[in-house]
Formats: sequence, C-alpha cells, structure tokens
Amino acid sequence: MSSATPQPCGSWKHELQTAVTKPHALAFPMAGGPQDVDSVVRRYPMRVTPYFLSLIQQWEDPLGKQVLPNIQELTDTLPHDDPLHENRQSPVPGLIHRYPDRVLFLVSSECAVYCRYCLRKRLVGNPFVVTDQTREAALDYIKKTRSVREVVLSGGDPLLLETDTLNHLLEQLRCIPHIQVLRIHTRVPGVLPSRITDHLVSMLNRHHPLYVNIQFNHPNEITPQSTHACAKLADAGIPLGSQTVLLKGVNDDPEVMIRLMQKLLTLRIKPYYLHHPDPVRGTGHFRTEIACGLSIMEHLRGRVSGMGIPQYMIDLPGGGGKIPLVPESVLGEENGMLKVTGLHGKVYGYPGKA
Ligand SMILES: *Cc1c(COP(=O)(O)O)cnc(C)c1O
Ligand code: SF4
Repeated sequence: MSSATPQPCGSWKHELQTAVTKPHALAFPMAGGPQDVDSVVRRYPMRVTPYFLSLIQQWEDPLGKQVLPNIQELTDTLPHDDPLHENRQSPVPGLIHRYPDRVLFLVSSECAVYCRYCLRKRLVGNPFVVTDQTREAALDYIKKTRSVREVVLSGGDPLLLETDTLNHLLEQLRCIPHIQVLRIHTRVPGVLPSRITDHLVSMLNRHHPLYVNIQFNHPNEITPQSTHACAKLADAGIPLGSQTVLLKGVNDDPEVMIRLMQKLLTLRIKPYYLHHPDPVRGTGHFRTEIACGLSIMEHLRGRVSGMGIPQYMIDLPGGGGKIPLVPESVLGEENGMLKVTGLHGKVYGYPGKA
C-alpha cells in the first residue's frame, strides 16, 4: 500500500502500510524455498500486519500457517476456485443472493491479512473486484428487492474501508425501509485491533441493529489488544458473534477448540459458526475430515457452556447453502424408548412417545 500522506506511527493506516507483503522480509526460516513462496504470492497476495506477525514464532505454527504462503497452495488437486457457485448466485457483481431474506454484500476486496485458506481466494486483494460502481449497483439491487431484510457486509474486510466510506454505506442501507438488520463480517479485531478506534465505534453505534461477527481461529489470537478491541465494540451495544474455520494443524484439536470457545465467551462473543473449510483450489492442505469436526463438537458438548457452542457448518458445493452437522446422538428406538448417547458416551433410554 502507498499513500501520499504519511500516517502517524501507531495508527491503523500506518500499520497497514508497514504490513509484510513479501516472504523475504520475514526473520524466521521459510517453509519451502524462496522461489517457491515467491511464486505463491505472485498468484495469491500476502499481507500480514506487524501486530499479527508479533504473535507468530514459526512459519508453521498455528498462527503462521494461517497467513504465511505455502507451496501447497499451488500443488493441491482441488479443481474449483468457486465451488459454492457464488458467481452464479450473484445478480450484480459484488453481491451474492442465495437466501430469500438476506444478501452478502462485498464492500471491500482488501483484508488486513490474507488468510491462506480463504474461500474467496479468487477475489481478495484484487482492487477491481469491488469498486464504487459495484457498490452502487448492489445498493440499487437491495433497494428494489423487497424480500431482503438483512444485509451482511463482507468482502474482503468491511472494516478496511475508511470510516466515512463505511458510514455512508450504512446510512444508505438504513434508508431502505425493508432492511431491518445489518451485519458485518470481519477479521479485523483479531488481526489489526488498532483499527477499532473510538471514531469507528461511535459511527457503528449510530446504525443499530448492527451485528458484528468476528473471525477467530486459535486461542493465541486472543491478546490484551484484541480483547480491548472487542470490549469497545461490545460496550457500544454491538452484539458480537464469532466465526471459526476448522483448519488442519491450526485448531483441529478438541483441547484447542475448547480453549478458544471459552476465551471467546470471556470477550462477550457468542460463538456462532465453526465452518468446515470449503473445497477451494489452493486450500486443500487445510482440510480435515468431517469426522474430526464432529468429534470436536462432541467434545465441546458438556465441556463448554452451551453459550459457547457454535454450530458446525458445511457449505454445500453448487450453492445448496450452509447446513449444520450435528453428532448423531439418537441410536434408534425400541418399544417407544429412544436410545440416546449421553455425556461420556454412555447410552440412555428416553421415552420417545407421548
Ligand atoms: C453465509 C452466507 C450468508 C449468511 O448466512 P447465515 O447463515 O445467516 O449466517 C448469506 N449469504 C450468503 C451467500 C452466504 O454465503
Ligand atoms: S479476512 Fe476473510 S475474506 Fe479476508 S482473506 Fe481472511 S478469510 Fe478471506
């Protein structure tokens, strides 16, 4: 990123300007050779904020894996870069309309970090994907589509827009009578917490009901800085949810997931979704088995407050939507008695008939 006006040190814009975008600039040993990772970032851009970098000790630790390029991004065998058919469910560029009552509005193509497992790997970091024109066309579509009650601002990351730009967008959405609820999907509080300024928060506070769902994938992402950023949002009366992506070698471990969900609750964040990673080209090395996700869900149940249990979601290829998967607990029925697996795997009978 470059800009004519230098920003004061410590501001979020200064942090973005000094974000690492080239693998050589990193101090720790690379996974793969220098040519390898260079070819990866030529295809899929790299960006890591100095703050997030300070939390990484090694290239392939749970935080490093999420944002540092890996040659496997170019060698996997997944054929599709848009398996969810987002492009086909896009009535105007930059807007995805899959469910009758809500739309996904891509308001920015930039993110504070570029996650290597991103489902929109095909789009993020490309400045031509979201423009003033696509935003205008999307607003027009939302205005004339009266079945839409909720707008989910996504991207890219909506919180990378200038505060005034985002304010203007939210104002325009708020002027549409059939729009009841606004929601922002962001990773910013966990990767660029300095962006959560008083100015931003007081602006967001003017657009209620506004929900913010924040991506957190590992307990090490919860630091004094990210905790403070989330507290500011919660203090402004913004209901907070989390989205976590199940990632091999990052959080595919019940103990890690339990710690993450417990910590999220202490930040006043209600865990919302645990996403099974989508089969997107370039992300195959992050995929685990569904059985692994179901087993994590089983471990969470009973070990973590019910408030801290997200729904485990798969997004069906071909545009079938997000569907929750639940560990099977009903084993069968015998003479009106259900056989149900209880805590710790013991089987109990339950009267299934009235
Ligand atoms: C995920 C998603 C939404 C939001 O779905 P919720 O289940 O309400 O969180 C909306 N539109 C599209 C296209 C999506 O992929
Ligand atoms: S912040 Fe979200 S949209 Fe941006 S790269 Fe990460 S997963 Fe993709």
